Amino acid sequence: MKMPALFVGHGSPMNAIEDNAFRRGWADIARAIPKPRAVLCVSAHWETRAVGVTAAERPETIHDFYGFPDELFAVRYPAPGDPTLARAVADLVTSAPVVLDPRRGLDHGAWSVLTAMYPEADVPIVQLGLDTSRPAEFHYALGRELAPLRDRGVLVLGSGNIVHNLGLIDFRRAGGADWAVRFDAVVRERIRAGDRAALVRYEELGPDAALAVPTPEHFLPVLYVLALQQSGESARFFNTETLMSSISMTSVAIGA
Ligand code: ZN
Repeated sequence: MKMPALFVGHGSPMNAIEDNAFRRGWADIARAIPKPRAVLCVSAHWETRAVGVTAAERPETIHDFYGFPDELFAVRYPAPGDPTLARAVADLVTSAPVVLDPRRGLDHGAWSVLTAMYPEADVPIVQLGLDTSRPAEFHYALGRELAPLRDRGVLVLGSGNIVHNLGLIDFRRAGGADWAVRFDAVVRERIRAGDRAALVRYEELGPDAALAVPTPEHFLPVLYVLALQQSGESARFFNTETLMSSISMTSVAIGA
């Protein structure tokens, strides 16, 4: 059996402790798919030089943000690591050097989502770091190398945001700005069309791309997930909301 692959828009760290529709969407998708043996999370919040893979037996919960309530800093996600899976990932990746990191914990791009998906913290988690000095084609190709994991009960979970511009965020605005809504729709339309070449060249995806993706780290995780889509395999969207002017929560499940 082939595991689905998921991309989740994580948005604000507050989604880790708020009971809201996004969090319920994450819990719902976890219930709708087979429980994985382990998760390989590609999060926007771990940027590395060379391809990093977490290899701790007991990864710590990293609170990689500031200016949030104590309640959020108190969250711990005690899921185990999986050093054996980390080594398997290193073996699969032949396109670039892989660096196993036995100290790195889980960032909020991973745990804010995983606390909703697997609240029992009983699924081992490994993270893959993003070498953002590399172009989008590199990340897409790396994603393709991870394909055998789907046959080994591993859920590849991308965590970022298709539209993510903190410089233009407006906390009082419920919905998205016109350009954000437009870019999110264009990306969904290209995903629906199976046009992965256009998505890898996201910088050329219409006039709104530069505003929607000012830096690559929140967008790249979706390329890892799309790289795992086989021909004819479904892409199902959920949490398709654009908010606070410049954030899209759009999430997509492949093969689920
Ligand atoms: Zn983020």
